[in-house]
Amino acid sequence: MIMQWLRRFMYGRYGTDSLNRFLSVVSLILLFLSMITRWTAFYLPALLLMLYTLFRSLSRNSYQRGRENQVYLQMKGKVTPVFTKIKTRYRQRKTHSFFKCQSCHTTLRVPKGRGRVKITCPKCKLSFEGST
Ligand SMILES: [Zn+2]
Repeated sequence: MIMQWLRRFMYGRYGTDSLNRFLSVVSLILLFLSMITRWTAFYLPALLLMLYTLFRSLSRNSYQRGRENQVYLQMKGKVTPVFTKIKTRYRQRKTHSFFKCQSCHTTLRVPKGRGRVKITCPKCKLSFEGST
């Protein structure tokens, strides 16, 4: 009964997408922070984000909402590799040293504990010395 009503209510409306899921998580984190810190500075943004998320899922303008989601996915695609890189480096910090090629800015990974070594960039063939 309720499901039927909900299905009819949501008909033609945008529903949820990656951006909405992301916004929900952010607003829940903000709400949680405002609860533990009792700081209202987190509460208002959390509320506004929730309202915006609700507005997006009830919106009938699927085209515009889809475009917003595309922009979000593009930004996410740029940010995610940066975090992946930081995570990989942190996990390998005891076994590998990381160098940046001065010529093409490629990150080079060298095993640790070999003293001073000559490093050759596989991309542009530039050689330089580094201590591991
Ligand atoms: Zn290079």
